[in-house]
Amino acid sequence: MTLRLTGAQFKDAAVSIAETVEKTRLIQAPSLSPDSRSSLWLKPECLQVTGSFKIRGAANKIASLDRTARERGIVTASSGNHGRAVACVAGQFGVDAVICMSTHVPPVKVDAIRGYGARVVMTGDSYDGAEAEALKMAREEGMTFVSAFDDPHIIAGQGTIGLEIVRDLPDLDTVIVPVSGGGLISGVGAAVRFLNPDAKVIGVSMDRAPMMHLSLRAGRPVEVAEEPTLADALMGSIGVENQYTFAMVRDLVDEVVLVSEDQIGRAMVWAMREHGLLVEGGGAVGLAAVMGGAVENMGENVVVVVSGGNVDRSRVDELATKEDE
Ligand SMILES: *Cc1c(COP(=O)(O)O)cnc(C)c1O
Repeated sequence: MTLRLTGAQFKDAAVSIAETVEKTRLIQAPSLSPDSRSSLWLKPECLQVTGSFKIRGAANKIASLDRTARERGIVTASSGNHGRAVACVAGQFGVDAVICMSTHVPPVKVDAIRGYGARVVMTGDSYDGAEAEALKMAREEGMTFVSAFDDPHIIAGQGTIGLEIVRDLPDLDTVIVPVSGGGLISGVGAAVRFLNPDAKVIGVSMDRAPMMHLSLRAGRPVEVAEEPTLADALMGSIGVENQYTFAMVRDLVDEVVLVSEDQIGRAMVWAMREHGLLVEGGGAVGLAAVMGGAVENMGENVVVVVSGGNVDRSRVDELATKEDE
C-alpha cells in the first residue's frame, strides 16, 4: 500500500525542524534557461546546515522519538550526508549516534561526522554492507535504526523543501530532483502536488548503477553492484525490502532521467563559475539533466533542487582544469 502523507504532516514537519534548518531561498538561474519560454531557479540545499537537505529528514525523525528511544541511541547507515545530518541533530538532542559507512564515503564527509562526536563504524565497500551492519547493531543493542530514505518522518522532513518551493513560486510547472533511495523526491513530489496538483516531478540519477531507475523498470526493487561515480551521495540500493519510497516514486514521479559522469562534472563546474556555489556530484545531477537537454516540456517555471555541496573545492577545480584543456 502506498504511503499517503497529508499536507498536515508536511506542515507539522516544517514546524518540528524550524529551529534546526535553514529555509533556503530560490536563486534565479537565467543562463540555465534553454529558451525564453522557461525560467529556471535553483533550490540551493548545498547551502543548508550540514551541506545537504538530509538534515530536514534527520531533524524530523529524531524530534519524533520518545524518551526511551532517545536514551537508547540511534544507528544509521549513510553514504555520508545522512550520517552527517544525523550526527549533527543527535548532538543537539543529546542522543548517542552510531554511523555505519562504506570505504567509498569521501574523507571530507567522514571527518565532518566525527567532528559532531558521533561514533563512526567503517564497514566494507558498499552502502548495502554498511546498512546490514547498522541493522545488526540496532537489533543487538536496542538502538533505533534511522533509514536515510525509507521512513515516513524522513520523507515528510525532506518534503518541507516542496512546501518552501511552492510558497516562493506558486506557479511552479516542473520540479527536478536528484534520486537515490527516493526519500527526497517522494517528499518533495508529494508536498508539491499537495499544493499544486498539476506540477511535473522529474527525477534524475547518474547512469552508473541507477538503482531506483532500474527498479522502476523491473517493477520491483532490484539490487545491482554499485559503481564509483562523481555522484557518490546517490550510490546504494533502495533495499529489496523497500516499504515506502519505491511505490511513492512509481506513483508520483513523471519520469526519471539519467546523466553521464561528464555531464555531472560540467554541471559542478558551471555551478561554481556561474553562481559561486560548491555543489557535489549528487547535488548537480538535476543541473546536468537540464544542461544536457534531457528534460523536455518543462513549462514556464522550473525549479532544480541542488541537493548538496559536500565536496572538496580542489575536486571541482580539477574538473574545471580538465574542461579547459
Ligand atoms: C541523499 C542524497 C540524495 C538522494 O536522496 P534520496 O532520498 O536517497 O533519494 C541526493 N543528493 C544528495 C546530495 C544526497 O545526500
